[in-house]
Amino acid sequence: MSVKRLPSCIPIPLDEKELKELVSKTKDWVVMHGIGIRSKTAFSEDSINFAPYLLLPSTFPRKEFERAVEIQTTLNELMHRVAHNQEFLKETLKDTIQVDEFTGSLYKIWETVLNEGVTQKLSLGLVRSDYMLHSDTNKIKQVEYNTISVSMAGVGNGISLYNRFVLEELEHFDKLQNLPENNALTGMTMGLLEAWKIYGDSKAAILVIVEDVTYNICDQRFHEFELKRLNPRVKLMRKTLTDVHMEGSLSENNELMIGNTVVSVVYYRSAYTPEQIPTKKEWGSRLLIERSQAIKCPSIQYHLAGTKKVQQALAKPGALEPFLSDPNKIAAVRDIFTGLFGLDFDEAGDQAIQMALDDPERFVLKPQREGGGNNIYGSEIRDAIMQMKDTKERTAWILMERINPPISTGYMIRPGGQNPPQLAEMISELGIFGVVIGDSQKIMVNRQVGHMLRTKVSTADEGGVAAGYGALDSPYLI
Ligand code: ADP
Ligand code: MG
Ligand code: MG
Repeated sequence: MSVKRLPSCIPIPLDEKELKELVSKTKDWVVMHGIGIRSKTAFSEDSINFAPYLLLPSTFPRKEFERAVEIQTTLNELMHRVAHNQEFLKETLKDTIQVDEFTGSLYKIWETVLNEGVTQKLSLGLVRSDYMLHSDTNKIKQVEYNTISVSMAGVGNGISLYNRFVLEELEHFDKLQNLPENNALTGMTMGLLEAWKIYGDSKAAILVIVEDVTYNICDQRFHEFELKRLNPRVKLMRKTLTDVHMEGSLSENNELMIGNTVVSVVYYRSAYTPEQIPTKKEWGSRLLIERSQAIKCPSIQYHLAGTKKVQQALAKPGALEPFLSDPNKIAAVRDIFTGLFGLDFDEAGDQAIQMALDDPERFVLKPQREGGGNNIYGSEIRDAIMQMKDTKERTAWILMERINPPISTGYMIRPGGQNPPQLAEMISELGIFGVVIGDSQKIMVNRQVGHMLRTKVSTADEGGVAAGYGALDSPYLI
């Protein structure tokens, strides 16, 4: 495998003295513009560190960036229909839910509300499709499509502005035109506001479901403050699922109440890992919300549609055809998929197991989890497969071809890092944000609303910023 390289946006390395000053100044810029995160090791509500970032924007091929932007509404349409196709979800998840307790519990909530009759037919999707460039072809391949607690529209938007600043500081005015405009924060927040308007009760609040401790606070607050900028009269509450257990109820006509306040929209920034729904109380809250009239972001069917198992099922031959009628759209979606394989107890599953054992470096092994840090890579794949291959456990995992993106060289700036920083080899992951509102019959809103780039050192397997692996970046188009 030959490693491809992307050029840097301006000549590097920078002069050491200039670099040192620039790093000090840009750290202040990002802190002063809210591009921050709370420390996991020295947590305090009173302090915010700057979030790791790339000193200079990493380059990304313009054509592939545009392709990712363009395909977003098709992906939104696809995933919205998948979320509303009960037979497909049932068939796809039937084995996984037997062994993956978390997905199984979500699935039970879905079954419960389907049996009872769905109270709120509309779903709000604030989504993000992630990509890496495939080195051999320099074309994008989809990593995953996220439907829950999609983050980085706030701080990522800030980094786009930062990259203008840094190129201006370095007097590369002619290069500014290669920084694509980014309105991710406004776009995502408008989605929340539109759902609130559709609900049609001007006194009703937007409820954000939060973790017990929020590290990625700036990104979340950006949405809150942007909402207030767009409409200062909209109420927003932040509650944990434990709070909802104590304070939440359903009114006679199934309105979600927190105390005496009606909730119009529930926006999850938590509840995507087992630890975030730890006991029966929190599962009770999850069900209470789903039973209510509030518009959920995501609804339970959207959450299930965002699982890795669904992603793998959609990559099977003929799987897209029931959802998309336009053959050009089908071809375009197929083109961004990389090899995805189920580990079911069938011939295809056995073949996938054998492929993984023969050449583990070619793959990533993924469970049904979100939030980073859950996948298995390299030689550990073999051990994991050997352990699970004769048990039902394997049906909870998928195997995905590993994407090997081209390498760029850059300066990553982290809290506590040395100044001047060392140049290092990096790889990037592009995310495109989308907003969807609709029900099983129609899609009322379908938009692409912005982007983000995350960059990590090339030797790291994972790149989540909130999870502590990667750094914020934004693309410089070439
Ligand atoms: P999560 O839902 O936890 O974010 P992802 O599927 O995005 O799960 O995987 C986490 C990270 O692992 C990605 O951000 C990326 O850095 C890496 N990764 C995932 N799939 C691949 C792949 N097929 N090839 C290379 N890296 C991958
Ligand atoms: Mg994810
Ligand atoms: Mg991811």
